[in-house]
Amino acid sequence: MSQIIDGKAIAAKIRGKITEQVATLIEKGITPGLAVVLVGDDPASRVYVSMKEKACQEVGIFSDEYKLHADTSEQDLLALIGRLNNDSKIHGILVQLPLPPQINTDLILESISPAKDVDGFHPYNVGRLVVGKPTFQPCTPYGVMVMLKEAGISLEGKEVVVVGRSNIVGKPVAFMCLAQHATVTLCHSRTRDLADKVRSADIVIAAVGKPEMIKGDWIKEGAVVIDVGVNRVGEKKLVGDVEFAEASKRASAITPVPGGVGPMTITMLLYNTLESARRSAE
Ligand code: NDP
Repeated sequence: MSQIIDGKAIAAKIRGKITEQVATLIEKGITPGLAVVLVGDDPASRVYVSMKEKACQEVGIFSDEYKLHADTSEQDLLALIGRLNNDSKIHGILVQLPLPPQINTDLILESISPAKDVDGFHPYNVGRLVVGKPTFQPCTPYGVMVMLKEAGISLEGKEVVVVGRSNIVGKPVAFMCLAQHATVTLCHSRTRDLADKVRSADIVIAAVGKPEMIKGDWIKEGAVVIDVGVNRVGEKKLVGDVEFAEASKRASAITPVPGGVGPMTITMLLYNTLESARRSAE
């Protein structure tokens, strides 16, 4: 049987450390502050925003929520971000995606000061990651790397196959693995012979968004499986991108869904906000 990499437990441990470090910073007169901007009333986005605020409260980070109407103009949103960029109480700015169609998402993400870009989506921070000098790293892939470290899994010299090349998960996690000296194959919807690529992997990182599309028998005996996918099946059930029951018979270690990568994402957002506040004190 494979080791289950328990994202909930790892996240709880790291949040404990963050709570202590936030308290130390507050004693020095700096309260880390996160501004969360939500435009419109997409139900999933509302849930994510309230989870982020609750997590901030739990570790002692000050959070300020800006709920804007779905018909907010690009100009008004840019003006708000401009104010937050200059607000010394705010160390991190998070604009919840997706944004409504009248707003250019790239323009908004690029208007956030790179020094407050705790989501790590600004091209400046993306570029820093690619050249191996990361400042803010995007939260989900960063969470994946922390999980691997906490589980005692080294990447050096390993064959890593990443399935999915999005800017928020697949691409950044590929660069993070490269920085840890893995040999990385980045797969996507036009990849030929995906099953063969996965079969060659010592570590598989799945970030596709298709329920159980990576079959258990594609997993090499003893490989490590990190499943980023979160897919709703039916009314209540959540499954990952990997066929968990079969894959766990072959993998040496595997993340469950839910309770795997999910809890790490918000944890790394808290960590990035703490880091930003620390840097502001330097
Ligand atoms: P995107 O939809 O942005 O990207 C999906 C990627 O999968 C694309 O690169 C796409 O390829 C690739 N893909 C689609 N079909 C196939 C296929 N048949 N074979 C190989 N590759 C394929 O998704 P995200 O990266 O945003 O998210 C991926 C998953 O991770 C989702 O389930 C999402 O819910 C989950 N997620 C979980 C988070 C967490 O906190 N746990 C946070 C973020 C995401 P192409 O580029 O060619 O179209």
